[in-house]
Amino acid sequence: DVTTDIILSTSGLTKEFGGFRAVNGVDLNVKRGTIHALIGPNGAGKTTCFNLLTKFLPPTKGAIVYNGQDITREQPAEIARKGLVRSFQISAVFPQLSAKTNVRIALQRKRGDSFDFWRPEKVLRELDEEALHLLDAVGLSAFAALTAGELSYGRKRALEIATTLALDPEMMLLDEPMAGMGREDVERVEALIRKVSKNRTILMVEHNLSVVASLSDHITVLARGQILAEGDYATVSKDPRVIEAYIGS
Ligand code: ADP
Repeated sequence: DVTTDIILSTSGLTKEFGGFRAVNGVDLNVKRGTIHALIGPNGAGKTTCFNLLTKFLPPTKGAIVYNGQDITREQPAEIARKGLVRSFQISAVFPQLSAKTNVRIALQRKRGDSFDFWRPEKVLRELDEEALHLLDAVGLSAFAALTAGELSYGRKRALEIATTLALDPEMMLLDEPMAGMGREDVERVEALIRKVSKNRTILMVEHNLSVVASLSDHITVLARGQILAEGDYATVSKDPRVIEAYIGS
């Protein structure tokens, strides 16, 4: 059934900035349970598209449907409650606090707790255990006591993913998860994304094409605000229009 197979879709999604169409009539369909990548040359409209999906920007035209519900006019907090979460959005990382405390705060948010650090001992212990479990899942168990500010760049991204996972989202939107990373960190985060994708849907914008090739089930190529090509990596990377768009950029 096509309607339940698609978790997130857009129809005619359009964003104009003073008459310039940065996103121009995009019909995106993300299948449930897949890793879907949005790629394209600089200026293609990827970031704008992401900002529309996560409600950082209102669209000029078009609609966004998540799990059969029109979310075009909803606020970021509302869609997060529905299970659609952008990494690094709700889950800000506090540099002065330990990795564990950062994850614990995210867990408290998930429970709807207020921003209050005092908890009964027992509740704190439970939350700490859960936080350690999540840190372990992202390969940070040895770094739980370090402040977020002391972590390497790649480990900070892993921590951000852990705080996003604390919210247990059904679908995660990752905005260039590998940006600025060295090779070792790229490999670690790549393995992490593969692992956390097991029971969720992931949509990511990523410039590193070898990461896109190895992680993605499906790729949408944007150019000049429109969908240029779609398919798996082997298909889109051979498409002459895609090659031309990248070379011409
Ligand atoms: P990408 O992420 O694919 O590099 P962007 O979505 O950042 O592309 O940008 C798409 C186009 O829209 C670019 O030409 C960019 O200059 C333009 N653009 C993006 N944001 C704004 C804005 N706030 N005001 C005006 N133009 C914008």
